[in-house]
Parts: sequence; structure tokens; C-alpha cells
Amino acid sequence: MPTYKETHRRSLADRDAFWREQAALVDWHAPFERVLDYARPPFSRWFVGGRTNLCHNAIDRHLATRGDQAALVYLSTETDESRRYTFRELHAEVNRFAGVLKELGVGRGDRVLIYMPMIPEAAFAMLACVRVGAIHSVVFGGFAAASLATRIDDARPKAMVTADAGMRGGKPVPYKHLVDESLRLAKYPPAAVVIVDRRLDRDMPRVAGRDLDYAALRAQHMDARVPCEWLESSEPSYILYTSGTTGKPKGVQRDTGGYAVALASSMRSIFCVQPGETMFTTSDIGWVVGHSYIIYAPLINGSTTIMYEGLPIRPDPAIWWRIVEEHRVRTMFSSPTAIRVLKKQDPAFMRKHDLSSLEYLFLAGEPLDEPTARWASESLGVAIVDNYWQTETGWPILSAQPGIEQTPRKFGSPSFPVVGYDVRLLHEATGEEVGANEKGVLTIAPPLPPGCMTTVWGDDERFVRTYFSTFRDKPFYSTFDWATRDDDGYYFVLGRTDDVINVAGHRLGTREIEEAVQAHPGVAEVAVVGVADQVKGQVPVAFAVVKDPARVATPQDAAAMRKEVMDTVDRQLGAIARPGQVHFVTLLPKTRSGKLLRRSIQALAEGRDPGDLTTIEDPGALEQIRAALAAR
Ligand code: AMP
Repeated sequence: MPTYKETHRRSLADRDAFWREQAALVDWHAPFERVLDYARPPFSRWFVGGRTNLCHNAIDRHLATRGDQAALVYLSTETDESRRYTFRELHAEVNRFAGVLKELGVGRGDRVLIYMPMIPEAAFAMLACVRVGAIHSVVFGGFAAASLATRIDDARPKAMVTADAGMRGGKPVPYKHLVDESLRLAKYPPAAVVIVDRRLDRDMPRVAGRDLDYAALRAQHMDARVPCEWLESSEPSYILYTSGTTGKPKGVQRDTGGYAVALASSMRSIFCVQPGETMFTTSDIGWVVGHSYIIYAPLINGSTTIMYEGLPIRPDPAIWWRIVEEHRVRTMFSSPTAIRVLKKQDPAFMRKHDLSSLEYLFLAGEPLDEPTARWASESLGVAIVDNYWQTETGWPILSAQPGIEQTPRKFGSPSFPVVGYDVRLLHEATGEEVGANEKGVLTIAPPLPPGCMTTVWGDDERFVRTYFSTFRDKPFYSTFDWATRDDDGYYFVLGRTDDVINVAGHRLGTREIEEAVQAHPGVAEVAVVGVADQVKGQVPVAFAVVKDPARVATPQDAAAMRKEVMDTVDRQLGAIARPGQVHFVTLLPKTRSGKLLRRSIQALAEGRDPGDLTTIEDPGALEQIRAALAAR
């Protein structure tokens, strides 16, 4: 067996041969002519000329060999439902949904926006889209109407798919109401909204002619057989929006063939799940981890995937481990925040169930601190694999790859570059590679491997400017993360180089939250910083200047204003972005050229030294921040 080092080296030095071999893991309707076209850097086109379809690879091709095997197991501790779909049953459901989409005139290249709770119909909708060649854009259910409207106007979907409501902690969370509001705000609302009615929201409004009931439509398409649209490998499969340093989210565009190959490859080399075995990923379909490792990768691999609606601690903190025992889960994928939540519970819950089937617990989305990793490893007795990646890449950049070689893991490190990734740590100013144990910007020397974003939806120029323009004369892809590499080659991710924060594994732009706070008419100016939090990793904290100081003159007034600001953020972005604290000041610390000193504010909020203040316009502003924090 070749070692990890040899395999990684070969994946870069003999790229075409390596990826040609990996491409055999998926079905091609027409073979590709070339492995890679890199004639127009930094845009890469993988498996040029090959024709394939994600839905065919996820479902149809397994029908002959594993039609009666469970493909998707749905478990909800919110509604106490469980449903199991074999590959054959999933095929039938996806064809029905595809029949509905066809009836609505949705076809190749059309966009469909999916705003859904964690129910199987969300998976059917995604798979039906890619089946007919349409491009889905799933928006996480926690985002508010205004955020949804921004995404609608950017993607301009022909149709939307939603449900009456989701459920969280036993309480219904309205979805359709919010969709209606977003459609009032949007400039380019779609003509059709398909609604999966779970009968959780009796007051769900309906707009005649636009709103369509999925159950009724499905009944008309019970025997639908919709052929897969054979897409050229580079044609888009989906758009997934993600936050950056500007207020406007970027539509990460993914291809078809490269994504299928990368995911199939990762199931073997990283996640070690065999066809027929079960994977349980606790993320949400609204995030990239959900796209890749709840839906596409396990199904493409012929594995069973578990889709879970509910919290990790309801009905009790043993629920995930009960699922592992009952479904003989082999590989689990979750987030450090979820494990920190469990760590606060009675440890007996971790040992209540037979976990003998479980080999690996993969954790990603945010830094995995050493105590949490150690605790999880000791209480579960399984291998904990920290893996590092981004919405943009679609699959891990750094990870141990036990399917290639069982390398020892170090707590606090996501180990090594994944095959296909030419990772380099560059000095921020000079762009030269840094030495061992020196801090650098984590970059990827292009071409990006298969599966990574191909461009920003509708904006090639933004793709190049955002990701490939950090270093002069060196057009490397920047992750905007700091990292070091130790003497043994292990990487350590140290945090973002930009103003993006990570709340419970979810990326949020501080600029985006500032814009949401400023939507309150009483706010003149605001600075939002991410402050370290024991459970969520970071939480946003806002320092706002109000237009009329009388609004915050008494503690009661200030409390009322604070609530208004938080409600405004809920309405604009969603509760996930709500600041943990809102402080009122009359001045914000800025440089003489007017740039916000976010790092200094953040340092003070975390009880650290504010650093170099020689460029500050008015030191009194920092005093106000100090006083506001002390008064808490
Ligand atoms: P997202 O695209 O929302 O998944 O966020 C990606 C960002 O989350 C990365 O750029 C990192 O800042 C952070 N991140 C993801 N995984 C890890 C990890 N294993 N260790 C440290 N940071 C991580």
C-alpha cells in the first residue's frame, strides 16, 4: 500500500493519472476527453467533455445492485417520525418531484431555491433538481426574510420549494410566512412556490396561482419516470451562498463531474465508509457539510445516510448515540460546538449505548480545541478526526486520511493536506513560503482540485478578485485563514485573516451584521466583532452609536433599544447572527483614515491588550469601549 505521503505527492505530480483513476468511482454517460482544462487560470474545468448526472450517480446506478438497501433514513425527535427509503423508494420519490418540476417548466440551467427544514422532501427536491439539470440553491432555514430576498434576487429562481414550518425544541418555526415576506421584498420573485405542508402551521397563508401544494402535485406524478439530464462535467449543479467581508453574500458555484468524483474519492480515502454501511452527519442541508455529507457523498458511494431533525440533547443527551447503536452507524460527522454542548451534560449519556459499530467521529466547521477533542475521544472511545475546509471547497482541504494510511493524529490539528490540494503557507506581506512553526496565510496553489467552487455565481471577476488576488505575482487561492505547520508536517489553523467570524460553525461576516444593525433607523454607526465563547467558539458583540442619545439615556431606555437592535438583526439576517451583547457608545475607535479598529475592540472584549494604537484618531473612543464592557 502506498503511504499518505506518496499518494499526496502523486496526486499533484501525476495529477491527470491520479484523477483519471478516481473518476472511475462514478458513472459517466459519455467519457471525458481530458482530465483538466486549465487554459484560463484560475478557472479549472475538470473531466472536460464527460457527461454525467449527480442524481444518476446517487440513485439510479445503485438500483440493480442495492435497490432494496436503505438509502435515506429520516429520524425526527421533533415530530417523533421516522421514515426509511430504500434506493428504489428514493428513486420513485425523486422521480415524482422531478415530474412536478418539469410540469412547472423547470429544466436545465434553471435555478430552484430550496428553503426547507430537515425533512426527506428537502432531499428529494435537491436530487430532483440535479436530475433535470436545474441548479438548486438551498438556503439555511435560520436565515431571515431579507437575507432570503437577497439570495432570490441573485439566483433568480424559476421556482421555490418550502414547507409550512420547521420544528425546533418542540416548537414550530414558520417557514412559509417568512418566504412570503421575502417574496414581497424581492425584485425577481419566482412564479411558483411548492409547499410541503407538514400541518404544523394552521395559519399558513396561501397565494392563489403562485402557491402549490406538493402533496396534490405528487399525487399526479406517482408513476413519473423522468430521465436524467446528461450534463457536461462543468455545468453547475448548485449554488450555495456564503458570507465574506462585504455585506453581499457570494454564490459559491459548484460543477457536476468534478464534485461527484471528489466526493466519491473522499468517502474512500477520508471517511472510510463502504457501500452498504451507514453514515450519520448531524449538519443541516442548508450548509455545505449537509450538501456533501448528508446528501451527495453517502448516496454516490452506495451508503445509507441518516437525516436527523432535532437537537443533540432532546429527548436526552444520549439521542445521537442511540441512533448510532440502532442504525449501526460506522462514521459520524458533526461539529465541535455540538460536542461542547454534549460535554456540558452528564457524561453517563455518552456511555449509555453500544457504540461498537462506530469507528470515526469527524468534526469540522470551526477550530476543534484540544480539551474538547480529548474529551470526545476518551468518552466515546472512537477516533476523532478534525478536518478543515470551507463552503468554497466542498470537501476537506486538511484531514487525516485513514483510508490511505492510518497516520497518528495530534489533538488540535487537522493533520495534513488532502490528496489533490497543493497547500502552501505564505507570509502575509512577502508572499514567500514560511518555515516550520511560522504563521502564514493558508493558501492553495492552483488549479483547485475537483469539487471546489468553479466561480462566483454570475460574477467571474469577483471570483478572481476575492480569492486569487491576495498576493502580488502569486495568484494562489486564499482561504483567509492563518495556520502553522509543525516539524512533523501537521497543520494548525489559527483563525481568520479577515473580518469573518465563526459562530457555532457558521460563518458570518461582521460587515453583514453591521449592515443589519444599521437597518435600525435609530442607529448611526456600529462595529461588530467576534468574541470568544466557551460553547459556540465565537459570538458577535455590537458597539453602536445611536443618533439620538436620549434613546439610551436611562438603563430602561437602553434595554429597550438593545432589544430593538437585536430584533432588527433577527429580521434582517436571522437569529443565528443576533449579537450576544449590544453596547452603546458615542464614538467608535477608528484610525485617522477612518478605518474601524475592529481588532483592538475585539481584544478589549476578550480581555486582551488592544495592540498598536499609534494610528487611532481619538483614544477616548477606546476608553468608551472599555467602560461599556466594564459596566456589563
Ligand atoms: P464555512 O465555509 O462556513 O464552512 O466556514 C469555513 C471556515 O470555518 C474556514 O475558513 C475556517 O475559518 C473555519 N474552519 C472550518 N473547519 C475548521 C477546522 N477544522 N479547524 C479550524 N477552523 C475551521
